[in-house]
Amino acid sequence: MKTIAVQVGKIVIGGGSAIAIQSMINTPTRDVKRTVQQAEELIEAGSELVRITVNTPEAAQAVPYIKEQLVLDGYEDVPLIGDFHYNGHLLLTRYKGCAEYLDKYRINPGNVGFGDKHNYNFGLMVDVANQFKKPIRIGVNWGSLDQDLFTKMMDENGKRKQPKGDRDVVIDAMVESAIRSAQLAEKLGMPSNRIILSVKMSEVQDMVKAYQLLHKKLQQMRKPYPLHLGLTEAGAGMRGAISSSAALAILLQQGIGDTIRISLTPTPDRPRTDEVEACKLLLQTMGIRSFKPLVTSCPGCGRTSNEFYQKLAQEVNRHIEKKMKNWKEQYPGVEKLIISVMGCVVNGPGESKHADIGISLPGDMEKPVAHVYKDQTLFKTLQGKRITEEFIVLLDDYICKRFS
Ligand code: SF4
Repeated sequence: MKTIAVQVGKIVIGGGSAIAIQSMINTPTRDVKRTVQQAEELIEAGSELVRITVNTPEAAQAVPYIKEQLVLDGYEDVPLIGDFHYNGHLLLTRYKGCAEYLDKYRINPGNVGFGDKHNYNFGLMVDVANQFKKPIRIGVNWGSLDQDLFTKMMDENGKRKQPKGDRDVVIDAMVESAIRSAQLAEKLGMPSNRIILSVKMSEVQDMVKAYQLLHKKLQQMRKPYPLHLGLTEAGAGMRGAISSSAALAILLQQGIGDTIRISLTPTPDRPRTDEVEACKLLLQTMGIRSFKPLVTSCPGCGRTSNEFYQKLAQEVNRHIEKKMKNWKEQYPGVEKLIISVMGCVVNGPGESKHADIGISLPGDMEKPVAHVYKDQTLFKTLQGKRITEEFIVLLDDYICKRFS
């Protein structure tokens, strides 16, 4: 069953739409200038929705200014999402500008209040969303799981003949929290096509299980709300990118997930846009969406002691980054192009033939010539000191002829 289509600003999440990429800004929201700057960097990198934290009155007051500046700068198509914890009910009811200018509210049912206040505060936020016809994401996170619900489910589990392990009860409670909150939102008048759910956990296997269970239950209930996928607290750099990709890939392959975020702990030498690049690469390498030409290159081995092919692969990647903005406008479809750069004759010709255009460089013991393949056939042989420049000219020429 297809998920329900939810309109978030000008983007549709679910209902068979392309899996949307989102990211989260880490500047203080009250700092309008820096927040707008980072939002624009993330959007330019390919983020289709951007989320800001709304944690204080100053942050709530800054929201209209942030949105207006984004619109003035030409980014009106990208939804701005507000992330609320603890005091969302107060901020959304007191700062109408904030409620009005945001395109979606993220509500964490684990920290909207305890006891009687839980449903009351949650209800206040849903009322504001209804008033402004805004969609919500009910974002359950295991670091802030609804403790009342979890304790109750642990007690019930303890009374079973064969109790489940604690971890499985946590997963059940995550899913239950998401479903109960969605049911409560609907009871309070929110239509199903304004609800998105997520159940983020930080361990790959747990997170996969939680989303699979949620997906299954929603299908059984015939309430297929779209799902926002993410591995929370995934870590920094390669660790974060790999663990997130491992988790998200399993789910996406099973047809689970309508929008994704890869949360990376920032590292001092890397831009925030890395999280967007990671999402794009994940979707493209899985064959789900295409964003820019991909370079297939071999890892190298003892058959090619020179670093020439590595540098060539690097140059081709740089060339793509430099040209992509223009290519996108001039050459529709170029983002599906596959280019191969290979180190020697063992796999070079074969891999180059699978690509749209490829080059096979000479290994140590080979004749110092580089074969270029175009549309699966040998097209030219390059040699000498200008192989890189000449290959890039051939690449530009190929793109121009094929995609004009
Ligand atoms: S293509 Fe050649 S150089 Fe590259 S990894 Fe394979 S054998 Fe080694």
